[in-house]
Amino acid sequence: MLSFDLRSLETKAVNVDGSLAPDDPIWEEADVRPSEPIRVTGRLSSAGDGRFYFSGRIEGRVTLPCRLCLEDVDVEVEEDVHFLLAENGADEADDPDVFLYDPGERNIDLRPAIRETWLLTAPAFVQCREDCKGLCATCGTNLNEGSCNCTQTSTDPRWSTLLKHQSDAH
Ligand SMILES: [Zn+2]
Ligand SMILES: [Zn+2]
Repeated sequence: MLSFDLRSLETKAVNVDGSLAPDDPIWEEADVRPSEPIRVTGRLSSAGDGRFYFSGRIEGRVTLPCRLCLEDVDVEVEEDVHFLLAENGADEADDPDVFLYDPGERNIDLRPAIRETWLLTAPAFVQCREDCKGLCATCGTNLNEGSCNCTQTSTDPRWSTLLKHQSDAH
């Protein structure tokens, strides 16, 4: 649960220990969603004048295709998170680090802020390993798993000229 009663928050800070599931309705179509629920831990406290401060951590995982060989890579995402929540219309409304909530709300929902933080933190590109050899541009073979027949012919053109001379000589 990532929703907290505003009134009681004004008098007493709460420890947050919740999760944001990959199928939560907060996610939008184009979002890079986590592969399992994101764990959200921390503390939410009143900062006065209808403002609340969250300080904590998100921990999750994401599965993305390696940008070179397209094999799925499972990546851990961990980030310390701090943000301010303010009423819509507050002075800080223009500050990108401030998340807004509706003055009429009875509960404060951390999900929009967690979603945005996740989107900024989760990698857009991953590589399965530093020396990933990628796919052969000609036949699509995963060169981490073995070589293909086109690897030889697609090398340095001088090399193929040399090969040609050799075969002419025979
Ligand atoms: Zn790879
Ligand atoms: Zn090939």
